[in-house]
Amino acid sequence: MNSPMMNPESAIPTRAPSATTVDDTVLPFEVAKLDLRGRVVRLGPVVDEILEKHAYPKPVAKLLGEALVLTVMLGSALKIEGRFILQTQGDGPVRMLVVDFMTPNKVRACARFDKDSVAEAIASGNTDGGALLGKGHLAMTIDQGPDMSRYQGLVALDGGTLEDAAHEYFLRSEQIPTRVRLAVAEELRAAAGGASHRWRAGGIMLQFLPKSPDRARVADLDPGDAPEGMELPTAEEDDAWVEGRALVETVEDVELIDPEVSSERLVYRLFHEPGVRVFNATDVRAECSCSREAVESMLKSFSQDDRDHMVEDGRISVTCEFCSANYQFAPADVGANES
Ligand SMILES: [Zn+2]
Repeated sequence: MNSPMMNPESAIPTRAPSATTVDDTVLPFEVAKLDLRGRVVRLGPVVDEILEKHAYPKPVAKLLGEALVLTVMLGSALKIEGRFILQTQGDGPVRMLVVDFMTPNKVRACARFDKDSVAEAIASGNTDGGALLGKGHLAMTIDQGPDMSRYQGLVALDGGTLEDAAHEYFLRSEQIPTRVRLAVAEELRAAAGGASHRWRAGGIMLQFLPKSPDRARVADLDPGDAPEGMELPTAEEDDAWVEGRALVETVEDVELIDPEVSSERLVYRLFHEPGVRVFNATDVRAECSCSREAVESMLKSFSQDDRDHMVEDGRISVTCEFCSANYQFAPADVGANES
């Protein structure tokens, strides 16, 4: 760490921001003057390892990378122990995305998609997130273990991107004005024997969290009960939020991905005028939580009929959809009959 310096104006210890980014980290920050809080996520090896292993078509990989950034952004903010699961289900070429974050810092992800429709989407150049997801829903689940109640938030996917869905969720379910930017790209580097590809991803989230309840009021959005054509009252947005939102909307994809732009430099670039304070960054790891024991007890929970049907060539073989680990069992070990 660089030597701490005192900022005479605020008497808050400050230090020079690191020049280059620290990959696989989450950096929380605060813009006290504007009642804004946020987080910057930078993923290098974590996103590369997960996406490379799956070897999905590129647009599917990119979309899953976005979901990964969003999940890390939200999961790392939880004050509880447990899992945070983000899952999409839609009628687009990408049927399902699942990202599973386990506190404090483990993440895994996978996708299900229709090969032919994805190939068609690529051929027609229609591969933005909204087109791939189609219509459906995004579910966010907090699971604190078998003895605790699960929390689930749902938001409709209506041809928009994951960013759109996140904004909608926070506005309707949490009533917190929120802006999220997500970016995923492949970095190409000259290497012996041709260019090497590496996935990189990043994101920033900004939320307006004023201390005064009066300013925290957001427009009452519940068009569900309003008669059609009725003009809904729109609350005026707070100036501090308007300013913060406008700043975060200037963030370019490259700034979220570029290894030469550190998270600290990014938030400083955005908020140096009102002043920004960063907190300790936390790290993220790509790690699956599957195990032979867990697969075994899952198999034992299946019906006799289902277990019997899983026997192939005298064995039951289960491959983890997240990490591709393969587990093999003799039928008798899990109470199955060989046909
Ligand atoms: Zn696994």
